[in-house]
Amino acid sequence: MTANTTPVPQPAPTFRRFIDGDHEHRPWQEEIFNASWSHKCPTYVQGSSPCQGACPSGHDMRGWLRIVQGLDKPPNGMSWQEYAFRRMTEANPFPAVMGRVCPAPCEDACNRNEVDGHVGINSIEHFIGDWALATGIGFTKPLNESGKRVAVVGGGPAGLSAAYHLRRRGHAVTVFDDHDALGGMARFGIPGYRTPREVLDGEIDRILAMGIEVVFNTRVGRDLTIAELEKNFDAVFWGLGTHKGLGLSIPGLDATNCITGLAFLRAFNEGRLESVTGQVVVLGGGDTSLDVATVARRVGHVTQVYEKDRPEPAIFGQTAHDVATTARRKGADVILALRRTVGEFSRKVAMPEEVEEAVREGVKILEGVIPLEGLKDPENRIRGIRMCRCKMDGMKQIPIEGTEFDLPCQLLVVAVGQKGDLGDLAELDNGNALITTDRRQCVAGRKGHFAGGDIVRPHLLTSAIGHGRIAAEGIDRYLNGEEPPQRSRVDGVHFNLIDRLHGAGLAPEPIHEPIRGTWTSRSAVHNYEDRAAQEIITHEQLFLAHFSSTPRILRRQRTVEGDDVVGDFGERLYALTEPEAVSEAKRCMSCGLCLECDNCVIYCPQDAVSRVPKAERVSGRYVRTDYAKCIGCHVCCDVCPAGYIKMGLGE
Ligand SMILES: Cc1cc2nc3c(=O)[nH]c(=O)nc-3n(C[C@H](O)[C@H](O)[C@H](O)COP(=O)(O)OP(=O)(O)OC[C@H]3O[C@@H](n4cnc5c(N)ncnc54)[C@H](O)[C@@H]3O)c2cc1C
Ligand code: SF4
Ligand code: SF4
Repeated sequence: MTANTTPVPQPAPTFRRFIDGDHEHRPWQEEIFNASWSHKCPTYVQGSSPCQGACPSGHDMRGWLRIVQGLDKPPNGMSWQEYAFRRMTEANPFPAVMGRVCPAPCEDACNRNEVDGHVGINSIEHFIGDWALATGIGFTKPLNESGKRVAVVGGGPAGLSAAYHLRRRGHAVTVFDDHDALGGMARFGIPGYRTPREVLDGEIDRILAMGIEVVFNTRVGRDLTIAELEKNFDAVFWGLGTHKGLGLSIPGLDATNCITGLAFLRAFNEGRLESVTGQVVVLGGGDTSLDVATVARRVGHVTQVYEKDRPEPAIFGQTAHDVATTARRKGADVILALRRTVGEFSRKVAMPEEVEEAVREGVKILEGVIPLEGLKDPENRIRGIRMCRCKMDGMKQIPIEGTEFDLPCQLLVVAVGQKGDLGDLAELDNGNALITTDRRQCVAGRKGHFAGGDIVRPHLLTSAIGHGRIAAEGIDRYLNGEEPPQRSRVDGVHFNLIDRLHGAGLAPEPIHEPIRGTWTSRSAVHNYEDRAAQEIITHEQLFLAHFSSTPRILRRQRTVEGDDVVGDFGERLYALTEPEAVSEAKRCMSCGLCLECDNCVIYCPQDAVSRVPKAERVSGRYVRTDYAKCIGCHVCCDVCPAGYIKMGLGE
């Protein structure tokens, strides 16, 4: 058999991946330029910075740090400080308070930790907050009144944040609080040497000056019913906080000198408690226990001469300490008993510096112990507490047998947590003395009712303030007859390039027909995408080698040692100076938004990247790409320090 060797005619190729001569070596410069040729071109993708992702109040700190570092210039006639303040307070109206006492989860998340340590976000917030108070700058009142009325129950951080964000939207707001002053735990829990009262008052008064009505000394549920609120208001926000101290289920804690941390701090903050008598033992590993211990060291100890010298009558409001008591006080023995180790406590609860300060001020910390029983005398007073060593298995504490010991004490303060006090508002109680809401802060099963802050999830000031902001957005929609919006993954105030372009008179032209493959049309913001609400820029996406090591500028702190702390109620933390704040802000790497470093312009081998002409430039719109020149080598993407450039678009 013979094979047919006549060639079969082939159709002409319609596509060739390689052209003639592709196999030959080109000069090496050309090799480099073409080595990474791809069909992808740079796109400018705005992501969220991790600092913002970690701030529960929703701060756009990258935005205000860019202002402080001079990248984003204020409008004509406005100082950069005011511009930064306005940007900050779009999310959180308490920069001076937050700058002092927020444990700053934003700083833990900061990408700069991968270089040389986080940006001092909190200290810059402190600087701007103090600047705003010193200049007496106010919030603008709404231009239009909506005609709708909202009741805010509870004048703590959550309620005040909701009131502020609602008022900005033109709604009339009435705040009800059962105290004769606003601030909630920021006033009646956190001591004044951490949140000075003039700072707290200044920031609260600035909110109230927007035209917010306050009804003091009124407990909703007892003095006013829910039905009355519903009749007189179009929506309700519940920001009740958690004001009942949790107890411990061990015997002997029903003694008269065994009290909760909240009762202790409240008596101190209301000026009734001026000293303690004998050794004080504080049980608990949270913010409250540390505050109790440091307050006890400050008020000092008096040798008990009269019944009224004892702390309990002052704490329970039967009497108040006087000048004579104060004059006799000396350093008190204060023991803070933790079931965790000090290291875990500093990492998980308080800031390490706060724990170090407390120890320097004379608080003794006993770690890895649990209480077993209160030891009482015949007068039903605690004279000591039986304890033992323990080890932790996750959240579970396991007592170590044979390690029991007795610790003498004349005042036992139990500060192991709080719960809501919903006795008069039982219909809101979810069974755990809290109120259940969804992520939009809508109260389950009650239309027009929203809640936030500790009464939903006991946490921090920043979380309560964030809840207030989210609820206000939902209430606003509800009052307009719409559904409260679903919340995005990164829930906060985001930089908006389109708004910037509008503000600069550079808004894109309307689109009349489908457009493709152009970078010259004026109806689009070319190769830009806003993914801020969904994506967080991690450090792996940055070009970290761009940043040289620059140590963080720390705030100065006044340290007080040992018994010098007795009677010292002055603030310890000093704000940065203006040059320090600016230098510190310059350490921010602007994760997820153009840093205006020119790297992409300089390194592009094709000269495809250029600066946007000055007249068309706004913050965030600094460079652009000529796709006719771009070969998709992704050099610009590799050298972008901020992770703002992603290769995308396609052919
Ligand atoms: C001792 C202590 C130290 C803390 N330290 C820090 C810290 O350093 N950093 C930090 O971020 N967080 C700290 N926190 C937590 C922080 O204070 C709270 O997370 C925050 O205050 C919660 O705000 P809120 O508005 O939800 O509640 P609250 O601040 O408790 O305010 C609620 C307000 O509602 C009022 N109220 C309650 N029920 C009614 C009613 N039926 N009618 C009318 N009014 C009512 C209350 O009296 C109160 O004034 C600390 C808390 C404590 C207790
Ligand atoms: S409020 Fe707290 S978490 Fe938010 S920016 Fe300020 S310090 Fe950071
Ligand atoms: S470097 Fe700046 S933008 Fe990036 S996480 Fe830190 S503070 Fe935020």
